[in-house]
Amino acid sequence: MTIEQTLSIIKPDGVRKKIIGEIQKRFKDAGLTVIKAKMTVFTIADAHRFYSIHKDKPFFNDLLTYITSGPVMVQVLEGENAIELNRKLMGATNPEEAEKGTIRSDFASSIEENVVHGSDGPDTARTEIEFFFG
Ligand code: ATP
Ligand code: MG
Repeated sequence: MTIEQTLSIIKPDGVRKKIIGEIQKRFKDAGLTVIKAKMTVFTIADAHRFYSIHKDKPFFNDLLTYITSGPVMVQVLEGENAIELNRKLMGATNPEEAEKGTIRSDFASSIEENVVHGSDGPDTARTEIEFFFG
């Protein structure tokens, strides 16, 4: 049994769609606990730093515009296999490829506006939690 922590973000489109409660219920139903949460807004500098791995991608500038477009809900989720479990609940990056019943399949409007972020491994979980919660 591995209890892990992972970083989840409900992105600006998720907040605008008023589905924070729906998404948090999915975490709870899957056995994940929200142990820290805050609403915040990404500055352009934050967004650059957070998504620096994508800085050479053609979609990087659009990603900065999107992620800074409104408030986000940032959460630390805790539970057994939290990192992989959260990624499973989210579904694939492209909602058209996401499994039915996942957050992105149900709510995302495009590969860019895909409602949620989740850490993709133990190292990113650690650095991303540190990024928002020190
Ligand atoms: P996240 O890191 O947000 O959890 P992810 O790990 O599924 O998503 P990444 O490849 O890390 O996907 O991409 C980061 C984000 O950049 C995506 O969630 C999406 O908002 C945006 N993005 C990724 N690929 C594209 C693309 N081809 N076109 C436009 N935006 C994209
Ligand atoms: Mg990613």
